[in-house]
Amino acid sequence: MLTIITQVGGVLYFLTLLTAKAFKLNQLKGLAMFGVLYLITSFAILPAMAPVFGRTALPFTGNLKPLNFGTCLLNRHYVTPELKYQLVEIADEMNKQFAGSVTHYLDGNFPFFNGFPLIPHLSHNDGKKLDLAFFYTKKDGSINSAPGFIGYGIYESPAEGEVDYPARCREQGYWQYGILSSFVINLGNGDYQLDVDRTRTLIKLMAEHRLTSKIFIEPHLKQRWELDQYKNIRFQGCRAVRHDDHIHTQVR
Ligand SMILES: [Zn+2]
Repeated sequence: MLTIITQVGGVLYFLTLLTAKAFKLNQLKGLAMFGVLYLITSFAILPAMAPVFGRTALPFTGNLKPLNFGTCLLNRHYVTPELKYQLVEIADEMNKQFAGSVTHYLDGNFPFFNGFPLIPHLSHNDGKKLDLAFFYTKKDGSINSAPGFIGYGIYESPAEGEVDYPARCREQGYWQYGILSSFVINLGNGDYQLDVDRTRTLIKLMAEHRLTSKIFIEPHLKQRWELDQYKNIRFQGCRAVRHDDHIHTQVR
């Protein structure tokens, strides 16, 4: 389980077990040892080793940050240097256009090995893929938080008369397409409103950037936000999950 969620956690747990046995440590000491080992590995060793595998850690301060620090704690914020460069540049531009605005990323990739999947994402296995959070404005005027704890699962559903892929995919038997809403809690409680202006600007900056290969959002949002001229904004297919709660982007 630790390997699936964090890539290196399983190996570290195994090392801890061996050490704890050799030194006859009790459970509490073993657990503390695992915690220390895990933190040192995640925040000192992995960032230093990732470049060997063509990856680098995304920042967790500045104009580009994780929506949830757990993303970094679980080692899910590694991307290629090109993608990092692109994102930092775009996040700075967003901050310039919208004073104080922070761009939040969600899941990226693990630090090592092409082909090692970042479950549940189908394609985040080569450092070139990253999910970004939508922007929201809170009733109290603050602009840098979101209603969902993990940034996924709060859908901007199709309106009456809009193309409705969530319904189409469900009818075709793809039960997983909208699964996230079943266990994601909306913490916003009506306090949040999607910031269309900022979200649309971010998507446009991404779509116009020379390094971008593809962006996935739901077709009804592409239509609603008048992004039809961008051929690199595509529909991800029914085998994936809905993309009206976040933006998926990938570089060449
Ligand atoms: Zn994605």
